[in-house]
Amino acid sequence: MPPEKPQWAELYREVVTSGACTGCAACVVACPHDVLGYDSDGRYKPFHVEEDGGAEDCTHGVRGCTLCTRACPRFRSWEAEIDSHLFGRERAPEEAYGIARRVVLARATDPDLLAAGQDGGLVSALLAYALEHDVVDAALVSYLEGDGTSWKAVPGVARTRAEVVAAAGSRYTYSANTLAFAEATAAGSERVALVGMGCQASAPGAMAARKAGKVARRFQLTIGLLCSKSFDDAIFPELFEARYGLRREDIVKMNIKGVFQVWTRDGSYHEVPLKEAHAWTREGCAQCPDFAAEHADISTGGIGAFGDWTLTIVRTSRGEELLDAMERDGVVEVRPVEDDPGVVPLLEKLSRVSRRRDPGAVAAAPA
Ligand SMILES: Cc1cc2nc3c(=O)[nH]c(=O)nc-3n(C[C@H](O)[C@H](O)[C@H](O)COP(=O)(O)OP(=O)(O)OC[C@H]3O[C@@H](n4cnc5c(N)ncnc54)[C@H](O)[C@@H]3O)c2cc1C
Ligand code: SF4
Ligand code: SF4
Repeated sequence: MPPEKPQWAELYREVVTSGACTGCAACVVACPHDVLGYDSDGRYKPFHVEEDGGAEDCTHGVRGCTLCTRACPRFRSWEAEIDSHLFGRERAPEEAYGIARRVVLARATDPDLLAAGQDGGLVSALLAYALEHDVVDAALVSYLEGDGTSWKAVPGVARTRAEVVAAAGSRYTYSANTLAFAEATAAGSERVALVGMGCQASAPGAMAARKAGKVARRFQLTIGLLCSKSFDDAIFPELFEARYGLRREDIVKMNIKGVFQVWTRDGSYHEVPLKEAHAWTREGCAQCPDFAAEHADISTGGIGAFGDWTLTIVRTSRGEELLDAMERDGVVEVRPVEDDPGVVPLLEKLSRVSRRRDPGAVAAAPA
């Protein structure tokens, strides 16, 4: 029997239409024939163009192209394959938040990065340092569209410290930062850093594990964001405005710390219970088992007792070397995670909650 060459037809059936697709856009970025598009207008899903095979098949796939399935971090036994490639072994069941070398609390020492950052500004400090010390040429991040008042998160490229600061902070709607890859490489960037929630942070590992060519080689640093869900853009008019009178153009900052925290232009602070937001959970998150961005070089989060520190999970030697160099150069402060005794148990608990959503059967076998 000839070896199986799974292509868009299999990806469409087993991932895109099964509920496992997170909308990470890795397949779109990896496609060498430009026959995959991406619906950024609310659905956050890839689609195949009408030419070359229509919605459900791909003429290039029929002829042997498999790049979309090789890039997809939800195709078949993705977790075991990426674990084995990155760490030389699979995650043990008790390692609910993934394989880690070190867990610490960290924050930027630069007051501008600390002020702009969502928690300790560590992600922005990592990006600024990697850009300024010849580790990467560009970073794929998320900006707010236009003047920011629409709160529409859009992927973009950062090449300077000022651009890193402009992209800092968290938006809780979706931004497929991988999509900025084309813009970065078109401008000549050979080495890119990717920032993203677990769904996106597994993409470079999937591409590398399954040898997805030169796209895979260009991802040189992956920074993960802890994440239990993201929300539909409709949450702004339908929940925040309709029930709480919070117009999106008046919102200046948001955070999630057990509740939705909302700060508005007039200086006031509001809370929206997370339970109420549940109905606006993005469809792509329903089967996502990865709270802790398990395949990033460094994963970051805001849980725990200290609001202005970033919970930092160092996973790879690349991540460890980078954080060590930054600490030596005094651009980050690092303290032991034991300073906040509750945070690792909480990380484990939240990771286990997400693990219950594992589609399992989809990962194990073709439909
Ligand atoms: C959708 C979402 C859900 C999250 N849920 C949790 C959670 O449940 N628990 C937890 O501990 N932490 C969560 N986080 C992570 C947390 O909000 C911080 O991003 C993290 O602690 C890093 O903080 P920082 O100050 O070091 O990052 P910063 O220095 O502020 O940098 C943040 C980086 O994230 C990028 N970014 C912002 N919004 C998005 C987005 N929507 N999509 C992709 N990239 C984005 C920015 O461009 C920036 O580069 C979530 C983040 C997001 C985006
Ligand atoms: S999970 Fe990502 S790579 Fe896989 S089909 Fe969906 S958008 Fe494409
Ligand atoms: S829960 Fe977070 S990591 Fe998982 S698919 Fe949704 S946005 Fe991505």
